[in-house]
Amino acid sequence: MTQTPATAAAPVAPDRAASEYAVEVQGLRVRYGDFEAVRGIDLEVRRGEIFALLGTNGAGKTTTLEVLEGFGSRSGGTVSVLGLDPATDRAALRERMGVQLQEGGFVDELTVLETLRLWDRLVDRRDRPERLLDRFELASRRDVRVGKLSGGEKRRLDLALAVWGSPELVILDEPTTGLDPESRRRTWDAIQELQEAGRTVVLTTHYLEEAEALADRVAIMHEGQVAVAGTLTEIVATQPAGFSATLPETVVDLPELSGSVHRDGERVRVCTDDLQGDLTAFLTWAAARGVRLPDLRAAPASLADIYHAVRNEQLEANAR
Ligand code: ATP
Repeated sequence: MTQTPATAAAPVAPDRAASEYAVEVQGLRVRYGDFEAVRGIDLEVRRGEIFALLGTNGAGKTTTLEVLEGFGSRSGGTVSVLGLDPATDRAALRERMGVQLQEGGFVDELTVLETLRLWDRLVDRRDRPERLLDRFELASRRDVRVGKLSGGEKRRLDLALAVWGSPELVILDEPTTGLDPESRRRTWDAIQELQEAGRTVVLTTHYLEEAEALADRVAIMHEGQVAVAGTLTEIVATQPAGFSATLPETVVDLPELSGSVHRDGERVRVCTDDLQGDLTAFLTWAAARGVRLPDLRAAPASLADIYHAVRNEQLEANAR
């Protein structure tokens, strides 16, 4: 098959009739026998945005992505992906959407280059194997059989196939799980490049810093439902922030703060809804007493804090 130069950065043709949303999901439900893994979720992903689905283990993220990809069937709700229903229009969607599953389905006997060339014959989008080999640091592995690749190398090859020809929509299930920090950084670059070229990306991740680095908006799932959605900044702001410092045990007269103060020997931790106000009061108090705070740390809520709150709210809801 003749190869045209890479079209990877070609702009998406404007479509006046196209909805503002690449993905619209309403009331999605998915059952596995008696178990309902997805329990009536709504999602909207705007065209050109990077959207991250986060959540606790078993929350239903992969199940949701499988429905968007046309691999999983739903028991209720409506789903529109690039204006099509993935349950009935999978063939048409396949040409416009790149997908990276949690487990790639490679042919172990093929080399990396042979795998890319096979892909070139299977999909209509055009791209150059060399571009992907370079982009995902696989050039030195081009003649190695896929069965001999490391887990991280396989993950990168899987990602290369998903972004092949820069499709309109790319769906990535935990794209950087198992990657070393440098490979993770390069993967983020590749995802941002897709966005710069006008593509839409939906991904799942367990890493807060990944969602922070990439996502315009996120949804956090728990037990088959969307517990909270919005920008990460908005979501993080719903939970208390904190700061901590080490103080000599002889210092006991701590200042009045709006947050809760936890003291464990020399270590003081403050959990607060008013980080700026409490931190200012604390620093003013320390300065007035000449107390040095060499290991002072202040941070917004972590993903662990948010999951903790989501779990607790769920428990409270179950108890009502
Ligand atoms: P993780 O973060 O652990 O990857 P997830 O949010 O992607 O989790 P899913 O893989 O969508 O979660 O699974 C949601 C729930 O559905 C889990 O309880 C899982 O055990 C269950 N489940 C997934 N696939 C099947 C299946 N084929 N048959 C039965 N139950 C399934």
